[in-house]
Amino acid sequence: MNSKIIDFHCDVLYKMLYENKVDFEKAELMDITLPRLKQGQVGMQVFALYLEAAPLIGPPRFAQVLRAIDLFREQIAVLPEMYWVKWKEDLETLEQNHSLIGSILSLEGVDALEGDMVYVRTLYELGVRFIGLSWNHANWAVDGAGEPRSGGFTREGWQLIEECDRLGIVLDVSHLNERAFWELMDGTTRPVIASHSNCASLQPHPRNLTDDQIRAIIARDGRIGVTYVPLFVAEKELVTIEDLLGHIDHIIQLGGENHLMLGSDFDGIDDKIQNLEHAGHHPNLLAMIEQRYGNAIMNKIAYENANRFLKTYLPQRA
Ligand SMILES: [Zn+2]
Repeated sequence: MNSKIIDFHCDVLYKMLYENKVDFEKAELMDITLPRLKQGQVGMQVFALYLEAAPLIGPPRFAQVLRAIDLFREQIAVLPEMYWVKWKEDLETLEQNHSLIGSILSLEGVDALEGDMVYVRTLYELGVRFIGLSWNHANWAVDGAGEPRSGGFTREGWQLIEECDRLGIVLDVSHLNERAFWELMDGTTRPVIASHSNCASLQPHPRNLTDDQIRAIIARDGRIGVTYVPLFVAEKELVTIEDLLGHIDHIIQLGGENHLMLGSDFDGIDDKIQNLEHAGHHPNLLAMIEQRYGNAIMNKIAYENANRFLKTYLPQRA
């Protein structure tokens, strides 16, 4: 096992922002820290900006997003080992410097954008390259996977989609409800990602994708990041890497060999898959993928599929 990996989703910025765990270099403070990224042979990490809706304060405000980006810049991007990827060209720099760990920003849930496209364009300028349309509840644009009424996109939601398409921000459908997913598929042509979701046919949970959704994402050259959240893998006490391999098996059977990637959700989860408990453990998963499918497919899932997507769909430096 000697592959680099790309992890398309983590919530370490949330932990740093809300739980005040701000020392990214301290080995054991969080699932994802610099020592653990190195231990796990992580070549690129997507950092989600996830903001909490406080019960008495209401939905997150844009100032909180700025605070999270500032924290990312001051505590993570600033480290000499890290390299902030915003443009297609940045991937070449990474390829030429194997010791650098790439980092990319995504937004998880659009609540804080308040329907204002100025905020969307500002985030683009600040390097945000993926936007998860919802978290689990409803927001001004659309309903999330945990909203009982399962509403589709609002008028402002469609404005957001158009603006993201225009700018070149890729939309993330993890957390979206199924009705909204199909509306999006009918209304746009660009590829989407599901950065951290598994297969509903193996574990029926609203956060997982049906076979038809998986096929639709593959058909338009999107990507699916299998996620290490035990609840989305299997309904049992002790979830193992073997259980997660079942989801990888299934997506490969649906034609996803070139569209699979990884989306750990580290630092967004308290329960863990056995032997897959922090970023230093990625190689445990990769070793088992290699054992089952061989080196070529392991490399695709670990790195190549995600990297090819970034090479194709990240915007070019203007
Ligand atoms: Zn999430």
